[in-house]
Amino acid sequence: MRIAVGGMSHETNTFTYLKTSLEDFQIAEGDAMLEIPEAVRNTSLQGIIETLKANDVEIVPTLYARTLPSGTIERDAYENMKGRLLEGLANGGDLDAVVLAMHGSMFVEDVGDADGDLLESIRNIVGPNIPIICALDLHGTITEKMVSNANAFVGYRTAPHIDTKDTGEKAAKLALMALSNSLELSMSWVSIPMLVSGEQSETKSRPTSDIVAQLRHMPSTGGDIISSSIFLGFPWADVPYNCVSSIVVTAKEATAAGEREAKRLAQLIWDKRHEFTFTTEAYSLEKCLDIAENETSRPVIIADGGDNPTAGASEDLTNALEVMIKKEVKHALFAVVVDKLAYEKCVAARAGSYVDLKLGRVNPTEEPALPLAVRAYVESIGIGKGIPSAVIRIDDIRAIITTTRTDVYDPEFLTDLGLDPMDYKVIVVKSGYLSPAYTALTKRPMLALTPGDTNLLLESIPYKVTPRPIHPLDKDFDWEPKVQ
Ligand SMILES: [Zn+2]
Repeated sequence: MRIAVGGMSHETNTFTYLKTSLEDFQIAEGDAMLEIPEAVRNTSLQGIIETLKANDVEIVPTLYARTLPSGTIERDAYENMKGRLLEGLANGGDLDAVVLAMHGSMFVEDVGDADGDLLESIRNIVGPNIPIICALDLHGTITEKMVSNANAFVGYRTAPHIDTKDTGEKAAKLALMALSNSLELSMSWVSIPMLVSGEQSETKSRPTSDIVAQLRHMPSTGGDIISSSIFLGFPWADVPYNCVSSIVVTAKEATAAGEREAKRLAQLIWDKRHEFTFTTEAYSLEKCLDIAENETSRPVIIADGGDNPTAGASEDLTNALEVMIKKEVKHALFAVVVDKLAYEKCVAARAGSYVDLKLGRVNPTEEPALPLAVRAYVESIGIGKGIPSAVIRIDDIRAIITTTRTDVYDPEFLTDLGLDPMDYKVIVVKSGYLSPAYTALTKRPMLALTPGDTNLLLESIPYKVTPRPIHPLDKDFDWEPKVQ
């Protein structure tokens, strides 16, 4: 049995001014992919490769590319990676199936829906009879082109995502099961007119926990459902196909059962639409800081929700830091602002001296979004999780300046820089919902509703091409599930 693997995984924020170029991607190509290099580690592709290896499948590796969520991908970058992936496929000889690891919300300039475009090109190479099976992110935005050019989608069921490898394993096992039983797969999809943020749909909280509990994957007894998934979409992209989706995979003969189940799941999500509220306490930053001041446990960790790099924001906003300085917050840490020039000024000034900086941008809703002028003490220069960084101090607030964007996901980033999170009364991090490791550090996580590329107040985002009506931008309209 010969199965090709690969994929391109990107969550594209169309609101940020930063474009995503080829250099931004981690790429694994050809046989190197099978050794699980850094680009593949902890992705669904790792689960796919390990499962196929364990089942003695001859793997045909093509190309896999991923990067941190960021802005629209440059056309040339996409065409370059796509060309290499398709070449690997075209040179791969006879295949029994293709199993891919994708996100499902990838947007490319002049192309638009790049997941659909890539799947269509792959279908054109392998022909109509080879099953194409994809592991996708829970935040995928499903399109007609994606569905019509693939045979099965299997989505993550956790947010924060802790089942990435498991999802790859499920996708690979589904492919093996279909091949060994000569099953022709069918996918039923219902597109639901809803926008929901990840911060309103963490899977440990209701209503998402209730919905996920009803999903199935290769049940051993009864029924025609092979696999069911929901996809919550990605609200920080203004695209004409924004939606939340239910997807059900069945054998071709059982399509009617798949359609019934996809409609049932979609209706369930729609009926609960008003229950998708913030799963963490969410207020203005000023209010979060006031609460933190009176909180006895430490540290209080506040997410600067409008500038969340894990949803593609630029991570160079300093409006939250400005508020902290004005409020004279004590024992505080601000992590992080990306500003290479300011970092270089700190290096030139050296640790132990004062420096005048113009930091990041203050307010993205104002044109121009001016930098924040501060006089700061350079406390240290270091490397946090591989990223050159400077720690500065302004009054009783420490702030970390980095040279590149980073997901503030692992507190090791702080300890690498000699900062102990327990030393602080309040830590403001560039994040949406906190990562499991940051959640473990605090008894009082909060979301600050700050401006930026990942504005959590979806109703205030100036969408232009998103289809209407759509919940929650439009109120009280009728909708009934129908299979696309
Ligand atoms: Zn996601």
